[in-house]
Amino acid sequence: METKFQELKTRLLEVNDISAAAGLLHWDQSTYMPPGGAAARARQMATLGRLSHEKFTDPAIGKLLDALEPYQKSLPYDSDEASLLRLTRRRYERAIKIPAEFTAEVTNHTSESFQVWTEARPANDFERVRPYLEKTLEYSRQSANFFPGYDHIADPLIEPRDYGMKAADVKRVFAELRQELVPIVSAITSQEPADDSCLHQHFPEEKQLAFGLDIAQKFGYDMSRGRQDKTHHPFMTKFSLGDVRITTRTKENFLGDALFSTLHETGHALYEQGIRMDFEGTPLARGTSSGVHESQSRLWENIVGRSRRFWNHFYPQLQSAFPEQFGDVPIDVFYRAINKVERSLIRTNADEVTYNLHVMLRFDFELALLEGQLEIKDLPNAWRERFEADFGIVPPDDKDGVLQDVHWYFGLIGGSFQGYTLGNILGAQFFAAATEAHPEVPSEIENGEFQTLHDWLKENLYQHGSKYTAPEIVERATGTPLSIQPYMTYLRTKYGELYDLTG
Ligand code: ZN
Repeated sequence: METKFQELKTRLLEVNDISAAAGLLHWDQSTYMPPGGAAARARQMATLGRLSHEKFTDPAIGKLLDALEPYQKSLPYDSDEASLLRLTRRRYERAIKIPAEFTAEVTNHTSESFQVWTEARPANDFERVRPYLEKTLEYSRQSANFFPGYDHIADPLIEPRDYGMKAADVKRVFAELRQELVPIVSAITSQEPADDSCLHQHFPEEKQLAFGLDIAQKFGYDMSRGRQDKTHHPFMTKFSLGDVRITTRTKENFLGDALFSTLHETGHALYEQGIRMDFEGTPLARGTSSGVHESQSRLWENIVGRSRRFWNHFYPQLQSAFPEQFGDVPIDVFYRAINKVERSLIRTNADEVTYNLHVMLRFDFELALLEGQLEIKDLPNAWRERFEADFGIVPPDDKDGVLQDVHWYFGLIGGSFQGYTLGNILGAQFFAAATEAHPEVPSEIENGEFQTLHDWLKENLYQHGSKYTAPEIVERATGTPLSIQPYMTYLRTKYGELYDLTG
């Protein structure tokens, strides 16, 4: 059994290495690659995608898994070996249903689509990407149909990102949340908006990057296993547990962009850096779901990074980094500015209160597109109408409307967005559990210390990687299944101090 288990691990390591190489090509494409490299890069990534798919779906892996089944059954459910076999089985059963040529075709298509999108978005030219997006929708449907027997066509697309949740579950959680959120959004946006002009001054790029990265390291981001580079659409990526990178973008006329996206990506990176080193190279060595991953980016970005206690400590440092810009700005003004709630166009810049409405809009469109209720050609208009209904404003163009997010232009349609809102909900749930276990966490944050919080998250969440599914880890770490209550309590408390929520 030992030999077979080792043989399986060796094969999985090869798959891991090929995927890591593809990840590095993607990182390079998004940071340093000149535009002229696009066509060859798309082909190279497709080749690696095909190779890793072939290696992973090799019938030899199936035979090893079959042979190891008695071994798996003899082990406790939560042993590392049983967990590795269980997860590998789940991924294998899924992967063998998708033909290798299909995966290569999709990889190739999405690379091209991404390149076209990077030019079409600034040009505000939806028509240019429309044929690509139509093809993407076709691929998305085909992909779902490799898994017949689903309740909803989006289920097989949600599964690899948020295993344990179906379209119906997400709809239920979103409906519950929407009911609570809409009155809060209305109450806040009917009041005098916060003055955030202090954030819209000139901030030299180098100083912005240095300040953000300094906080990232104070959170616990290990620079001997990480680095930061610039990109268009910030992301975190990992090539091994010893190389977990973040990317950011700066706007010299707005402080909020680089700072909070750095804290966001740092949250993702802390999760990956916190995984047990002995999981290296196995399928266990990554965050368990997009919702749980996003819970960490949102926890560090918002619950910590936009809190009053955090800035009680760090605002004087920000003032000394930017004395001309903040020397005369009282902390109250700054705090209100970074927590300004408004009906705005861009999801990634949206405040904590309206953010989820942006996600729900996209989630509903994904379902409608997959169901065939909505066609791609009608999407820009549908976007404007729904946006007006939800936010009371009409996007002036597609650039800041339907073209704003990379997801549909660099991947399939379906399952791409729910994780953000699940993350907001779970971030508050994890933070509440950490604070209940360690009531000193808030006062430590006020002293610029994050060790206790970081340790609790490592111990209860990060170290396990994908060993437990999202529903399992949420229950283990917090004692209850996913619940919107901690999140609503958090929002009501924080924004109740900033605004009159009684409406
Ligand atoms: Zn994120």
